[in-house]
Amino acid sequence: MACYETAMPLNPRFHLLTTPPADAPSTARYVHVVDSKVWIADEPVMADTVPHFVGMVDGSPWWAVGVARGSDPSDGAAVDLYSYHGRASEHEWLAAGRAVQLIEWARTHQFCGRCGQTTEPLQGERAMRCPGCGLMAFPRLAPAMITLVTRGAPGDGQEALLARGVQWKVPMYSCLAGFVEPGESLEAAVVREVEEEVGLIVAAPSYRGSQPWPFPHSLMIGFRADYLEGDIVCDPSEIADAAWFAKDAIPMIPPGISIARKLIEEWLRE
Ligand SMILES: [Zn+2]
Repeated sequence: MACYETAMPLNPRFHLLTTPPADAPSTARYVHVVDSKVWIADEPVMADTVPHFVGMVDGSPWWAVGVARGSDPSDGAAVDLYSYHGRASEHEWLAAGRAVQLIEWARTHQFCGRCGQTTEPLQGERAMRCPGCGLMAFPRLAPAMITLVTRGAPGDGQEALLARGVQWKVPMYSCLAGFVEPGESLEAAVVREVEEEVGLIVAAPSYRGSQPWPFPHSLMIGFRADYLEGDIVCDPSEIADAAWFAKDAIPMIPPGISIARKLIEEWLRE
């Protein structure tokens, strides 16, 4: 699967770093985070947090800058990350997503969760530290698994389970997804989520790739799983409809920004 986990970390044009390298050029790019939108400029303006280093993108240092609530130095030019995906390179999109996550983390960890004192950034580490009790807060990541369940022998006759979320405004079908619970393995999360959402028992979860999903701080972990038994019974609080689809009768599926699309397209090509 041509996905992020193989293409990105090995790419010399995109390095995630906590602090700038000594030989970084002085010209930099600043990702201004306006609410959850991004606006990229050559100079930083109106920061409400200390700038956070994002990494090196195509040889340039990139910084994340939080813009104070209610102000917009971009005069409306800031775009959400969905829109930015179509306008930017894959590196730029990942860097902008990382910037949004870092600023969201900085904004929501200004005070110690244990004793309430104002936290301080820890030098050389991506962490906020409480000077009173020493509690450290690191950027928050919420792992979520996303699974394409298939039924039948591999080949043209195989079917895939796709579902429509109750919140979706378009008649789109996708893979099942859900957050990993504390104490749970990814594989166990796959089996539990599928059973909870559509009442099916699946087996043999296999990892297919992952994707940062900065809405606001998820990490999507893609799986395939085999149908074992049961009939589809949707959880009405989450799933409006779910069904088995043959390869020649696929409904509307998510756009290319998502790992769900990659999982489905990989299956269609098999
Ligand atoms: Zn504290």
